[in-house]
Amino acid sequence: MESVPVTSTEAELISEINKLKKEKNAVILSHYYMPASIQQLEREGGVADFKGDSLGLSIEATKVKAQNIIFCGVNFMAETAKILNPAKNILIPDKEAGCSLASSITAQDVIALKKKYPGVPVMAYINTYAETKAECDVCCTSRNALKIAAQLPGDTIIFIPDKFMGENLKRQIQATTKKNLILWNGTCEVHEQFSSRSLASFQKQFPEAEMLMHWEVPNETVADNLFTGKGILGSTNDILTYAGASNSKQFILASECDFSSTLKAAYPEKEFITPCIYCPYMKKINLQNILKALQSIGNNEQQHYEISLNAELLMRAAIPVKRMMELS
Ligand code: SF4
Repeated sequence: MESVPVTSTEAELISEINKLKKEKNAVILSHYYMPASIQQLEREGGVADFKGDSLGLSIEATKVKAQNIIFCGVNFMAETAKILNPAKNILIPDKEAGCSLASSITAQDVIALKKKYPGVPVMAYINTYAETKAECDVCCTSRNALKIAAQLPGDTIIFIPDKFMGENLKRQIQATTKKNLILWNGTCEVHEQFSSRSLASFQKQFPEAEMLMHWEVPNETVADNLFTGKGILGSTNDILTYAGASNSKQFILASECDFSSTLKAAYPEKEFITPCIYCPYMKKINLQNILKALQSIGNNEQQHYEISLNAELLMRAAIPVKRMMELS
């Protein structure tokens, strides 16, 4: 396996982090949207003990034995790890690591939706904050959304907060059932940037390449650029699996830029071309602040990094998250 190319400063930080996490009884969980030096496992030249998508990280958080988890992702993901593992210390290297989707809807907005559509189940994408989750019936990730939607009662679902993912889901759900989706107007500021025009120019340049598109890409872009050619519309995990199983050697990726390093590490013989759009929130996490978060464990600085949710909120937000795990 090729190791991650790093500068000498990064190599020093990586070595210090890997040493300190053992001394501090900590593990590092990393989302696929982190830079390669973070998301690659220690044996691959990075600092992670586990890398994955939102669902993979949520499940892994429940298995961790160490008392301290350094969560390399954004705030709502670290909150989910805390919800599933309230007895552990969950630290995020920068609490400013937000998300345009999670910020697009509040608990009060969900209460108003439930009042407007009484009795209609609310399915929340995992990209929501704990207070919002606490008002919902069930959570989902991009990996299990279709499966969970199919198991909800009635012929209507309120899906929050991503309108593009909602439109893409709606088309697939309505291909097999009569269920309707009521959508919120949130968007992922990364995936909404993948326009039909920019992807069409990539397709023209690389006519043999297959398209790898995330659920959060606008439905018009999906309609214009995928249904005419080969490829997949799916979750991060679906994309990873599809790229490995396909006979193609070249792919165009319509998802966060650093996910191409996950794909390249998994399939070094294949080529992944991408317009390269970075999530500014994910990029708030770096080797320097991971080291600082680790150094804080056991001293007064720890609270600066630690996710803290009150007991009642933890209990209420756990209900839709655990329901998602049961239905997945
Ligand atoms: S990539 Fe999009 S959905 Fe994911 S954290 Fe960034 S803004 Fe949020």
